[in-house]
Amino acid sequence: MQYFPVFFNLAGQRVLVVGGGEVALRKVTLLERTGALIRIVAPELAPELLERAAAGALVVCTREFEAADLDGARLVIVATSRRAVNRWIASLCEARAIPVNVVDDKEASRFIVPAIIDRDPVLVAVSTAGTSPVLARRLRERLEALIPARLGALSLWLRELRHAAGERLRDTGARRRFFETVVDGAAARRFIAGDLRGAERVARQLLATSAQAPPAAGEVVLVGAGPGDPELLTLKGLRALQDADVILYDRLVSDGILDLARRDATRRCVGKFPGSGGTTQEEIHALLIDYARSGKRVVRLKGGDPFVFGRGGEELEALVRAGISFSVIPGITAAAGAAAYGGIPLTHREHAHSVSFVTGHADSRGIEPDWRALAAPRQTAVFYMGLARLGDIVAALLAHGAPAERPAAVVSQGTADAQRVVTATLATIADEADAARLPAPALLIVGDVVALHSQLAWFGPGTETSLSQSA
Ligand code: SAH
Repeated sequence: MQYFPVFFNLAGQRVLVVGGGEVALRKVTLLERTGALIRIVAPELAPELLERAAAGALVVCTREFEAADLDGARLVIVATSRRAVNRWIASLCEARAIPVNVVDDKEASRFIVPAIIDRDPVLVAVSTAGTSPVLARRLRERLEALIPARLGALSLWLRELRHAAGERLRDTGARRRFFETVVDGAAARRFIAGDLRGAERVARQLLATSAQAPPAAGEVVLVGAGPGDPELLTLKGLRALQDADVILYDRLVSDGILDLARRDATRRCVGKFPGSGGTTQEEIHALLIDYARSGKRVVRLKGGDPFVFGRGGEELEALVRAGISFSVIPGITAAAGAAAYGGIPLTHREHAHSVSFVTGHADSRGIEPDWRALAAPRQTAVFYMGLARLGDIVAALLAHGAPAERPAAVVSQGTADAQRVVTATLATIADEADAARLPAPALLIVGDVVALHSQLAWFGPGTETSLSQSA
């Protein structure tokens, strides 16, 4: 991130604008609304600037810029038509550590001015760090269309409600819940639509019932984060992340997904690490129960879908025993995500009439999957957690009658930008995957549908097909 986003309080602060043309006028118009003390220096000034000066709104100096003009300035905006002059002034500001913006000269600027969506006092600022003005403009247009005109007024009304809520709801959690219901529900909807009295009525009713309600009981929401691409999170999952007090997440959950969570939620990685370390399953159960008992809204966030090799079921059983309420939000499981982004239709009807999700993990009790069934034709088998045991899995399939030329693929980091797909046959996939040094997490997909990848691959930089196939 090249720029640090800030909103600058300029009320009563001296701001120097060098230049007296159209561009300077635009900046001054915005600056005036902040209550800054504006001084303009330029040998010639647009008539409108002179009018405003006459009205006493700003101070003008009708002459060339002098270094002493910088004295006492909090912020400087340079907008003369001479690039060299602009740069010289900017260098003087830099030497004195005064933040400076040179209009249309990003290199000479210490700060840049974003495109804004203005719903005063709500302000949305957009910057592409100068990479694409067109993109910034398009984004602004979309946000303009999305953000209701009355949003600023809504925020002022919410501020008023805060006084009332502060008196009647002592508990901060209860206050937050009240405001979430107001903002998400009928009250804000009516306000935005213009029914201000209706909004007030709904909010007051809600406040009265919230004040009488017993302290909220904690709960756990088991959320599937999907396979990696943050945009594959469900809308419900997003909502749960935004409402969470505490988020307990697995190692597989991508940073992009965590970025979508409420900023001040407590986050805790409870990933299990290969070998020792990490949190045990019993410790996870205890954490879920303790947080929920203390009244928190807990999100238990798992990669993919929580019920597919996710031990989500066990965690819910522990919650049932502890009498804690819960709900479950499914996620896109790795097989579905990796197959979609890998161009491998798992049950293309010409090639497969079923698909099995199989764990590739050795069972501690020595129970084996039904290899004969998995080796049978006209079906697809997807192995989770099998990267380390790829050779054993392939050997078992071959030993139970699967043909050596059956297509197989390993999809590594499916749906992430770093996704890689290696396709080969059962005979060669273990060596090919080894040679490609594919990082975890990865899935093994076995079945004739894998051959469709060569035609249907669409995502990412390209595809790695084994020599044995392309030959
Ligand atoms: N609940 C998860 C699976 C957890 S088991 C789900 O529904 O997807 C962990 C295994 O899932 C990994 O060992 C790997 O085989 C697979 N996996 C998870 N994310 C993956 C991804 N982005 N690409 C490929 N495989 C993935």
